[in-house]
Amino acid sequence: MQSLLFESIPITEITLPLLNERSVCVDVLRLDTIHAVISGNKWFKLKYHLEEARSEGKDHLVTFGGAFSNHIVATAAAGAMSGFRTSGIIRGERPRISSHTLQMAEHFGMTLFFSTRADYHKKFIPPELNHEIGNAHLINEGGYGHLGVKGAAEILNYCDQESYSHIACAVGTSTMMAGLVVASSPQQEVLGICVMKAGESLDQALLELLPPGARSKKFQLLHQFHFGGYAKHTTELIAFMNNFYKHTGVPSDFVYTGKLFYAIINRIECGLFPPGSRILLIHSGGLQGNLSLPKGSLIF
Ligand SMILES: *Cc1c(COP(=O)(O)O)cnc(C)c1O
Repeated sequence: MQSLLFESIPITEITLPLLNERSVCVDVLRLDTIHAVISGNKWFKLKYHLEEARSEGKDHLVTFGGAFSNHIVATAAAGAMSGFRTSGIIRGERPRISSHTLQMAEHFGMTLFFSTRADYHKKFIPPELNHEIGNAHLINEGGYGHLGVKGAAEILNYCDQESYSHIACAVGTSTMMAGLVVASSPQQEVLGICVMKAGESLDQALLELLPPGARSKKFQLLHQFHFGGYAKHTTELIAFMNNFYKHTGVPSDFVYTGKLFYAIINRIECGLFPPGSRILLIHSGGLQGNLSLPKGSLIF
């Protein structure tokens, strides 16, 4: 399997007439390039889970997710690469035709257990796993939690952090964003683009991940760019992604980073960034999610 060793991560500078007109700069930190499957932020979020599991002598990673969860695939691949068995507890019945995500997880050796929505909600552990749970390191759904925050805080080590006035990312569980807030400098603002209809529960989830000292930093969750909800999309979003790729060469996914890029360009158009702003966008990967779009939807 492709190695996960990297010393640097590419940064793509976006050049669009709009940015000149508004006197703002936009750079994209390309976490999508570090690995084809464990793309982007998932590697950072899993790093300290792998370390903790290893130091506790555990040989098995158990985690939770939906049928289209990038976190499930990333855990399967990271486990396979690091010598852990992996099990995924998947929300809902086993589909008649597995999603690409689940097929890929099984390809990397993950054992899948399908849990009814009610059981899943209660974080029910399937009986087949009960006798070995002592050897297992459990990871929350989507990798939510403090070990993930600790890993995500390292993302900004891969850029010249102090040169940016704003840092923006897509938000699912808010774990990556919490890491960015922890690592941010007092003068920087971190913007999180919420990709689902989450409302205030997400603001609460984010606050719970932040150490008290980080709660007074500058950060904001934006809730108006979910395009109908998690993994929902519109023809406008797909057209935007194609257009953005055509003019910048940067591919995006329709679940997370497409919504991030759309939101930031929209806010620049609306004049919401002061002239002189330098904005860093975190490309958190997830491109394999595009496989579930009808063929031909995207030009990349
Ligand atoms: C999982 C994921 C996110 C969201 O990360 P959270 O830490 O859950 O907020 C963002 N972008 C991509 C591509 C992802 O796969």
